[in-house]
Amino acid sequence: MSELPLPPTTRHLGASGIAVSPIAWGMWRLAEDGRTAADAARLVHAALDAGITFLDTADIYGFDGSGGFGDAEALLGEVLAAEPGLRARMVLATKGGIMPPLPYDQSADYLRSAIEASLSRLKVDSVDLWQIHRPDILAHPQEVARVLDDAVASGKVRSLGVSNFTQAQTAALNHFLGNKLVSTQPEISPLRIDCFENGELDQAMMLGLTPLAWSPLGGGRVAAPESARDKAVAAALDVVAEAQGVSRTVAAYSWLMAHPAGIIPIIGSQNPERIAEGAAALTVRWTRTDWYAVLVAARGERLP
Ligand code: NAP
Repeated sequence: MSELPLPPTTRHLGASGIAVSPIAWGMWRLAEDGRTAADAARLVHAALDAGITFLDTADIYGFDGSGGFGDAEALLGEVLAAEPGLRARMVLATKGGIMPPLPYDQSADYLRSAIEASLSRLKVDSVDLWQIHRPDILAHPQEVARVLDDAVASGKVRSLGVSNFTQAQTAALNHFLGNKLVSTQPEISPLRIDCFENGELDQAMMLGLTPLAWSPLGGGRVAAPESARDKAVAAALDVVAEAQGVSRTVAAYSWLMAHPAGIIPIIGSQNPERIAEGAAALTVRWTRTDWYAVLVAARGERLP
């Protein structure tokens, strides 16, 4: 039975030359549960010590519907201020473009101020990847591209990405950018398989974008499946997990990583042991048969 290749120990963000770990750690849930800067530092160290050096945050992380905008970035900023040496050990990604209560804003003035505000909360001079969080339908991609190219030229942002963009929106923005996009961040997991067949990953490969998978465990549902369909996906993952002595969640990360687009799963756990455990995904081998078994379970029907 032919085996798919193991993921490499390093990937690159598009054509930027920026090397990243093949697994990322995300901070969507960082500013919850009363976490302090000391708690956040423990999590950052857990990721870095496990070789997970690609860290993803966003200006809106921490927002609870009324307040908390910027809180996750600010917590990481405190960690970096207390231990400045950490900055060089990580590839730092953030996002902006959602301004509650106004849903999405990619006007030139807003984008400029959002990037400045992120840098100031993070207490850094630049971020390695800046992503538009969700597309603003009212912004012309040429205008957006101009602001983003300026941000790269000023050295505040090293590379550019998008998240939750349609393929046409990605292509339109990329068309106008001088500094081409290096990443795209859709939701992808064994429970959210749209990207595999809707052309998004094909476009990523064609444009040379590194796909970052948000909610790679379906927000935790892979670990605690409830519906019959989710349980069937879990069972298909368990076949490989049990045979190779890893947890189901690690098998889920590795299933995404086996795709030829070079998907980087963003671990969402805020538990140091679970973050560290994620690194084991690099060792899991998939055969085509086992890989497709998970896909078929997620589709809920056989492939034609
Ligand atoms: P996820 O990995 O799908 O879910 C993580 C959740 O699952 C956590 O609450 C975690 O709880 C729980 N969980 C339960 N059992 C677990 C286990 N055995 N191992 C690991 N986690 C387990 O990811 P996510 O948090 O939804 O999203 C991951 C990252 O994607 C975010 O941090 C963010 O960077 C990015 N994201 C981006 C967007 C976007 O629009 N671009 C949207 C959502 C997320 P514990 O913390 O207790 O382990």
